[in-house]
Amino acid sequence: MKKQVKIIGCGVSGLTTGIVLLGEGYDVEIITEKLPQDTTSSKAAAVWFPYEVNPRDKAEIWGKVSFLKFLECCSDKDSGVSMVPLTVLIEKEEDAWWINALPKGEMRKGSATELPEAFPLGYIMEVPLVETQLYLNYLLKRFKSLSGKVIQRKITSLTEFDDEDTIVVNCTGLSSRELLNDQELYPIHGQIIKAKPQAQVSCILADFPFGETRDRLAYVVPRKDCLVLGGTSIKGEEEDRPNPDLIAGIIERCKAIEGNITDIEIQSVEVGLRPGRFEIRLERAGNVIHNYGHGGGGFTVSWGCAAEVLKLVQEIG
Ligand SMILES: Cc1cc2nc3c(=O)[nH]c(=O)nc-3n(C[C@H](O)[C@H](O)[C@H](O)COP(=O)(O)OP(=O)(O)OC[C@H]3O[C@@H](n4cnc5c(N)ncnc54)[C@H](O)[C@@H]3O)c2cc1C
Repeated sequence: MKKQVKIIGCGVSGLTTGIVLLGEGYDVEIITEKLPQDTTSSKAAAVWFPYEVNPRDKAEIWGKVSFLKFLECCSDKDSGVSMVPLTVLIEKEEDAWWINALPKGEMRKGSATELPEAFPLGYIMEVPLVETQLYLNYLLKRFKSLSGKVIQRKITSLTEFDDEDTIVVNCTGLSSRELLNDQELYPIHGQIIKAKPQAQVSCILADFPFGETRDRLAYVVPRKDCLVLGGTSIKGEEEDRPNPDLIAGIIERCKAIEGNITDIEIQSVEVGLRPGRFEIRLERAGNVIHNYGHGGGGFTVSWGCAAEVLKLVQEIG
């Protein structure tokens, strides 16, 4: 008989891992402090793009696996996943390492008429748009429909599972800093504005930082519920309340890369702390498998990482 699996965490990593393991016949329970709508995952825009996610060679593989899985999700109208044209602006050709993570034929160079005058270098591609406000509920429903259970409580130490004949998968994101005392983890502050949708606006991001401190970003993601304007990428910043002083700069940068944006009607301003790490921790330590530290690309690599967890679970039993 297969062992029981307890997954800690109910963000995109925990839910995706749970669905993959249930699909292989494992009995899976998620234990989580917060439900999906209160996680960092709920703050993501989210488009398929491996931003601040390492190591790159693995992100390429995990990103590609996830891309193809998201394509499958598109056929379910309740998933919140659709394919959209995305323009990625770059400073130098060699910065576009993520090209290798795209399935072949998904990308082409943008022409002068397609790109903003001030940013003449970039690629245009079709990528999955993962509308987190719909997708996390969709994952949760899918997990439960496969008989997965969710228990809401905080785990203070993984040692509580030492005596149990179970496999534990740690998907606690940035909280692994406290849970495991993992000092390699750090927050990457991301502030976004959710504005009233504007039909004429397209999906575009600048894959380079702005400003003196190089911790300002520009990205525009049109969703059904809102127009997401981002953002920031402040490493080590722990503050998770929105900073009003950052709002004008975000709007200015977004307008600079997407000239079709007109008057912004702000619905909300939100902050999420991305779980930064020099590399994703995806490894086995005894009967515990760690899957955290996905930086700014947790959705982008989610299915690939879950497939990797499955391999490690199968090693145990
Ligand atoms: C502004 C912003 C924009 C982003 N845009 C994108 C994007 O466009 N594309 C993309 O791919 N990624 C994007 N990301 C990154 C992405 O959101 C993260 O990489 C991803 O959400 C990490 O997911 P996770 O499930 O590992 O962690 P989380 O979503 O943080 O989930 C962790 C879970 O663990 C639980 N937990 C933690 N500690 C404990 C404990 N002690 N006991 C019990 N449960 C616990 C929590 O309650 C939670 O359920 C963005 C992030 C931000 C902030």
